[in-house]
Amino acid sequence: MEYASIINFLEKIGKIANLDEAELELLKTPQHIHQAELEVSGKKYPAFRVQHNNARGPFKGGIRFHPEVNLDEVKALAFWMSLKTATADIPLGGGKGGITVNPKELSKEEIEELSRAYVKAFYKVIGPQVDIPAPDVYTTPEIMAWIRDEYEKLVGEKAPGVITGKPIEAGGSLVRDIATALGGVYVLEEAMKKIGLSEKTVAVQGFGNAGMNAAKLLAERGFNVVAVSDSKGGILNNNGLNIGELIKTKSETGSVVNYSDAEKISNAELLELDVAVLVPSALANVITAENAGNVKAKVVVELANGPTTSGADEILHSNNVLVLPDILANAGGVTVSYFEWLQNNEDYYWDAETVKTKLKEKMISAFEQIWQKYSGSEHDFRTNTYVLAVKKILDAERARGRL
Ligand code: NAD
Repeated sequence: MEYASIINFLEKIGKIANLDEAELELLKTPQHIHQAELEVSGKKYPAFRVQHNNARGPFKGGIRFHPEVNLDEVKALAFWMSLKTATADIPLGGGKGGITVNPKELSKEEIEELSRAYVKAFYKVIGPQVDIPAPDVYTTPEIMAWIRDEYEKLVGEKAPGVITGKPIEAGGSLVRDIATALGGVYVLEEAMKKIGLSEKTVAVQGFGNAGMNAAKLLAERGFNVVAVSDSKGGILNNNGLNIGELIKTKSETGSVVNYSDAEKISNAELLELDVAVLVPSALANVITAENAGNVKAKVVVELANGPTTSGADEILHSNNVLVLPDILANAGGVTVSYFEWLQNNEDYYWDAETVKTKLKEKMISAFEQIWQKYSGSEHDFRTNTYVLAVKKILDAERARGRL
């Protein structure tokens, strides 16, 4: 993702939301950009922490370890986090971090050293009330625990709320492992009530953390999951897949395609199946202007980040397909991160039922706020989501006298 795409996006949303130059400039400009060079085993790795906006609360966003991480991308991802926390209506802002590294080329000890070096470089600009990182691509709960540990060593006090996505034993929250999928399911159920959709056939693209848990949770709620896929391909059984068996097949053989009681389909075919609900949970840019016209689902739940291109979006809207956009549909993860931070700050830990109940309340309330704007609006649901998020950030800026 390039930052130029954010500028284009803001120019477009700015016109719809009637933003003036000062407002646009504020949204385009990250508040702080921090950079460092980290050294491990004689090699140097560029590292970044971008703090986009904190008008609504401390900066919040993951740290990515990937060979293609660069400042431009981290800036773009930090911007999206400001929009996502505003959409989820949690009192946090937006930030993102990263290290340009291929973690697969490092030993576990070197990854730990690199993670601790990241904290040494940035500990003065992060903190439980300042900027709260989290996991992202190729960063794990274990890395989050090292980061907490290193931060506490450097500041000389207990500070579990400096980072989220920690293992339970290191101050993590229950339910975080399924939070993204569960949040999406809550939003989907609410949306189906609004549009009066009772048909419950589902196709899920991707069978990792987001997709597998979505399939499992939907099946438990009486949905008929007829198709799923992973990087090796897809499978279809119109009578429904046995998700328990499927999870077993995936863990034993490495792919859902080895499930016996289904016909094989391609990932492209999965997107065009005659189902009520389509859940893209793998890659970006899979629903495009070329295939959007063939999407038969009534609702698309974007658990993946950016699965629908803007050209596709217009086609889906004109075909009356309701797209629940990523910054709402997959915001369950950041919402439970927020709950983790609350529990850390209070030093009081909630049981799983409490986390689920509070997640449901937050997701439904976030959805309702957008739905109220959307009904009667000439723009699609995604555009209304973006406009509302941008307005929330600007309202907070104005209330603080910074705009
Ligand atoms: P994951 O690595 O656990 O799973 C990814 C899945 O996608 C795997 O099953 C993989 O086989 C499949 N896949 C890879 N290439 C594919 C292809 N070409 N066609 C079809 N499937 C393919 O990742 P995840 O955590 O489930 O994340 C999936 C998406 O959800 C990403 O876009 C991610 O940014 C987004 N997301 C995840 C979370 C979360 O909490 N896990 C939160 C927000 C957004």
